[in-house]
Amino acid sequence: MEKRELTCINCPMGCRITVTMEGDDILSVEGNTCKRGFLYACNEVKSPVRTVTTTIKVTGGLSDRVSCKTKEAVPKDKIFEVMEVINKASCKAPVAIGDVLIEDCAGTGILVVATKAVGSV
Ligand code: SF4
Repeated sequence: MEKRELTCINCPMGCRITVTMEGDDILSVEGNTCKRGFLYACNEVKSPVRTVTTTIKVTGGLSDRVSCKTKEAVPKDKIFEVMEVINKASCKAPVAIGDVLIEDCAGTGILVVATKAVGSV
């Protein structure tokens, strides 16, 4: 039997959650204050994911970088590959919020979208 200690990242309360596991089976989840915390803990021990937020190079823009994020959460073991693709990518100004900057990032099927607008020079 294994106990995993987690901090829920779904809201500022940051509840400490203990998940008791036997192999891949979840035996109990304790410490969560709400159902979101329960779901977070189950996902975190089975298939952890994170939204990646970073910036991408912009050419011909009023700024040389634009903030961006993955439209969906990325499996944790794919984050390095996703960041490699984003670091090598660039886009042309103008960029609007929500523009798709990368499709199918690192073969995950996940879009990378702009979270800021950048006008052209
Ligand atoms: S368990 Fe619920 S209340 Fe606690 S941090 Fe997570 S989302 Fe917030």
